[in-house]
Order: sequence, then structure tokens, then C-alpha cells
Amino acid sequence: DSSSGPSNAEVSAADASVVFHSWSKQGGLKPLPLAGGRGTTVWDHDGNHYLDFSGQLVFTNMGHQHPKIIAGITEQLSKITTVAPAHGNATRAEAARLILQRAPEGFEKVFFTAGGADANENAIRMARLVTGRNKVLSRYRSYHGNTGSAIVATGDWRRIPNEYATGHVHFFGPFLYRSEFWAGSEAEECARALHHLERTVQAEGPESIAAILLESVPGTAGIMVPPPGYLSGVRALCDRYGILLILDEVMAGFGRTGEWFALDAHDVRPDLITFAKGVNSGYVPVGGVIISSEIAHAFDDRIFPGGLTYSGHPLAAASIVATQKAMAEEGAVENAKRVGRDLLAPGLAALAEKHEVIGEVRGTGVFWALELVADRGTREPLPAATVAGLKSDIIGRGMLPFAVDNRIHVVPPLNVSDDEVAQALEIYDEAFTAFRP
Ligand code: PLP
Repeated sequence: DSSSGPSNAEVSAADASVVFHSWSKQGGLKPLPLAGGRGTTVWDHDGNHYLDFSGQLVFTNMGHQHPKIIAGITEQLSKITTVAPAHGNATRAEAARLILQRAPEGFEKVFFTAGGADANENAIRMARLVTGRNKVLSRYRSYHGNTGSAIVATGDWRRIPNEYATGHVHFFGPFLYRSEFWAGSEAEECARALHHLERTVQAEGPESIAAILLESVPGTAGIMVPPPGYLSGVRALCDRYGILLILDEVMAGFGRTGEWFALDAHDVRPDLITFAKGVNSGYVPVGGVIISSEIAHAFDDRIFPGGLTYSGHPLAAASIVATQKAMAEEGAVENAKRVGRDLLAPGLAALAEKHEVIGEVRGTGVFWALELVADRGTREPLPAATVAGLKSDIIGRGMLPFAVDNRIHVVPPLNVSDDEVAQALEIYDEAFTAFRP
């Protein structure tokens, strides 16, 4: 109920006057305040409702205010709200067990962090300690988080003002629509990208490389599902040169792609998996590293020189347990797969058929990108400022879209209803119909 509370303008001004915001110029910010939500819907303080197809930052995998997750957190609140990481805790053990149950064969332990960046930070730390090597290779088109090594491993522009960590090298991965390899097919793109990576490894000196760090499906960088054979090709290359493979499943994991882990659709077993976001639908800050037996046992008689005050926080653990159970009980991952295959794939393809501005549609599950172009022939990206205008227009039509660079990412919760997908497709269609570049 918004009738008795503050208005959007009041909350927005109060927030912007004292809260320092991420990735922004601080002057003139007018953040859209959200007052409440339920499922795929959120509302503001002026009583406007929005269909949330942003997942916020692609993390509300079970939607907003899921009653079972709220109940799980509330139950933990009544037992013990916080413990130091060195204690044992039943809820934390159960959270780790449920996560490991979804990992490939041969994974044995979970190190909990407070989010995705520190998950990658600690995976990199483990890889360096276990191999005794320093360099980390990652893709130019990637995002791995905003701390020390994670931001320097990141491939996008955000790395450049933050290059304090050392030992990071970047390479190009497969992305046929904007191929760096002059490829004409997925198979050619895959083979050439693997060749390029192997040459990079050889040129950098394999004995200096601890790990290759990859998002199983690059998310923020544009949702590029790797061609068949790419991830297994990287695995083979890692084996050839004694390099560890870290797969970042922070955004792609826990059902987003229509699989429990995005890597499940590819024939690949990494050494470390990082996660955050969808593991608990983002209700409490948490992330972590899923550790293979070999790496876990490397620390049996050796101190692991890393830790965090809130590693395995009981409220985070309770939110994970409740989310994991709700996902299984409600068939959320299966729903994401079905919605992707039966509704979003054809629905978004129909939009591209109708609207010239959509250069490519790609994705899987509830993880899709609309690549917007000024010209279909040259594939010139639509300017980010134009996309920002389109984003405002979509918000005005009652939907929160996820816009990044020249793209709109279509990223609803896993448990989105067919009716909500139909409504969203209609809103995108109206917005593209009204769109004038
Ligand atoms: N890795 C990937 C693939 C991500 O998408 C993100 C966040 O968007 C991160 C890591 C960093 O996670 P966090 O913002 O929780 O530190």
C-alpha cells in the first residue's frame, strides 16, 4: 500500500543524497525506488507495478518474496542469527551438501564467501597455491566481480581503471556474431578460438599459468552460449599444460540456463566452480567456491590462507537451503528449460523477424540477449544512449528490463509463468514498434 508512505520522489532523493552508488557518476542520480515485490512483480512507492524481467542483477531466480525462502530465513532467525566461521553449523553443512549434490562427480567441499567477486578471488587463490604458478587467463568479454583479482580477470571496460592485481592475461573466446577469427560457422569459430587460446598459453609460458577462468556462459558480456566442444576443448588444453580450470557460474548457475549448472550442457568437468546470485535468489548476500576432491585434499595438511568473517553466515545458509529445496520441489529448473525452449526462443525470434533493430537473438533457458544494431548488414551496435532511452520506455510500459551496452537481456525468474512471458513479449513488441532510432 503506497497511500500512507513516502513518494517515489522522496525516497529517491533521500537515497541519492546519502548513498554512494555503484558504477555511477554520483551527481544527478534518480534511482527508481522499489517498495515491494512478489514473484515476478515489483512495485514502487507511487503504486506503479512492474513485471521484473531483469532478475534485478540477474539473481532473483525464484522471484521476489518466495514464501518458502522467507520462512527458511525466519526459522533460522529464531535459532541463531550469526556464528563465527570457525564454528560448526548444521544449516551451513546442509547448504553445502545441497550445493554439492548438483555439482559434477568429484566435487567434495564448499568454501562460502559473501558474494561472487570474492568467490572468484578465492578460487584464484586456491589455483595459485595448488599449482605454485601465478598467471590467470580469462576472456576479454567477461565479468568476474569488482575486487582485486576478480576485476582484473574481468574482460570489459571496468577492468581498466582497476588494474592493481598482477598476473592476468586475456584472450578472445568464441562469439560467432562478432567473430574475432573471421569464422563462418560455429564449428570454425570453436576450432579457431581454441587454437588462439592454445597459442596464448604457449606464448605466455604454460609453466607460469595457474588457471583459466571462464564464465560457463558469459552473462553480462552478452550471453554467448559456447559452441559444442569449446569448454571440453579448454579442459583438454588445461590437462595438456597442467593448468586448472575455474568455471564461473555466478550468473549462469542454479537454473538460469535451464540446467542446474550451465556446464551440465557441456561435456566438461572443471577443477573449481564459483557461484553466488541464483543459489539463494539473492535474498541474503552469499557466494562460494565448489572445490574438487583433489584441490580440497591439497589443504588437508596445509593451511588455507584465506577467510571471511561472514563465510557461511547462518542466514545466508538458511536462504540457500530453502531456495534449493523450493527449486527442486517446484521443478523450477525444468520450468526454465521449457520456457526457454517453448516460449522465449520462438517469441524472441518472432520479435527479431519483425523489428530490424534486433540483430541477433541468442540464449537458453531464462537467459537471453537481444543484440540491438543500428544496421543489420554492418552489425554496428546501437549506441548505449539509445538503448538507455529504450529502457526508460519499457519501464514506462510497466516492465523492468535488463539493458547493457547495445543489448537487452531477457532474464526473468525460473518460475516465471507462461502468462507473464506473454505479457513481456507484448511489451517488448510495443516498445520496438514505437522505437525510432
Ligand atoms: N561473476 C559473474 C559471472 C557475475 O555475473 C558477477 C556479478 O554480476 C560476479 C562474478 C560478481 O559477483 P558479485 O557482484 O556478487 O561480487
